[in-house]
Amino acid sequence: CGIVGYLGQKEAQPLLLSGLRRLEYRGYDSSGIAILDKGQLGVVKRKGRISELELALQKQGLPGKIGVSHTRWATHGIPSDANAHPHLDQSHRLAIVHNGVIENYQLLKQRLSDSGHHFESETDTEVLAHLIGEAYDLLPPQDPQRLENAVRSALTEVIGTYGIAVIHADCPNLLVGARRGSPLILGIGNGEFFLSSDVTAVSGQAQRVVYLSDGDIVAIRPDGFDISSLTRPRVGFEISEVEKTE
Ligand code: GLU
Repeated sequence: CGIVGYLGQKEAQPLLLSGLRRLEYRGYDSSGIAILDKGQLGVVKRKGRISELELALQKQGLPGKIGVSHTRWATHGIPSDANAHPHLDQSHRLAIVHNGVIENYQLLKQRLSDSGHHFESETDTEVLAHLIGEAYDLLPPQDPQRLENAVRSALTEVIGTYGIAVIHADCPNLLVGARRGSPLILGIGNGEFFLSSDVTAVSGQAQRVVYLSDGDIVAIRPDGFDISSLTRPRVGFEISEVEKTE
């Protein structure tokens, strides 16, 4: 339902939480957050209100300057801690948040299960996490665009709608987004970047924004971003100013 991702020099947790708060009006049944720090992925997710997530994070906060977060509106699997996003791949080193519906997830889940993958939720999204993780593991480690290429190749197998944000414990300086049939924007701030399903989540933080097009993949690194697509190596894009809401 709602996506917020961050890559920058500030602590990600408070920025992600305030972004999620701004998306509350859209409705949701659970929320969660994954942050990367020192090669480790920290994940906290809770059924219920964002205050439940905040309470859990008060007990054990997640340090780190790159992360993804989500408010979920369940389509596949009941609202529960396990079904809340982010979801992890088989290696537990890749985390994804997803808006939309993967229509052929049962077929993909069967194929992955047959090759030894274990699933911890009933969601279509977790299948996407495993699919990207599998593609990642098959690509050579020396590929400088290994994660974005894994996302690209996994998405060619997917039928359905998605806005996604992905991080990987191997890639401490990389946030990847992609969309088809579900909105995703890139927010550009001062030496920091946001991904969100809704510009509302980043207004006040990002001065400029790129409304990603269907089929776009964006790879965000500390020194900039690169937008490509499922079918073409590079696409044009337009940067707009964000209207101030406060
Ligand atoms: N289909 C996914 C799920 O049920 C994503 C739902 C959403 O857009 O929040 O977990």
